[in-house]
Amino acid sequence: MWLEKWTPDFKPDEDSPIVPVWVLLPELPFHCHSWHYLKQIVGSIGVPLTMDLATENITRPRMAKIRVEVDLTKPKLTSIFVGSEADSSPVRGFYQKIEYESMPKYCRFCKILGHSIIQCRKVEQKKKAKEKANMEKQANFETTETSKN
Ligand SMILES: [Zn+2]
Repeated sequence: MWLEKWTPDFKPDEDSPIVPVWVLLPELPFHCHSWHYLKQIVGSIGVPLTMDLATENITRPRMAKIRVEVDLTKPKLTSIFVGSEADSSPVRGFYQKIEYESMPKYCRFCKILGHSIIQCRKVEQKKKAKEKANMEKQANFETTETSKN
């Protein structure tokens, strides 16, 4: 069953770009494998929902896995700065690599899930129609120009 959050601008023929995805944090320092740190780390990607079992039970020390609700229309972050940027902080910050497990494709043009705007046929058709219209306009212009002489 698929439950969708009701939003004021909900349209039945459009998909919401906000979906839950698994976010992987490879080589995350061991002391950060807790909900307290994880929710802060992934907070700039989206809304943290839950950790996977291995992360929760700390049975996979080399990688944390966390479910995050992300907005597919926003640029995808591939790394994130963790820690304090203040000079006085005793703990140095680091860049954490971010990977996504099966990120769904979302077309901003059709506003549906399943394909990206790069693969969009409608965008392609629109582009071709525009090119054709431009070419016709150009052709008409040339005919009027020649008929004058
Ligand atoms: Zn499309």
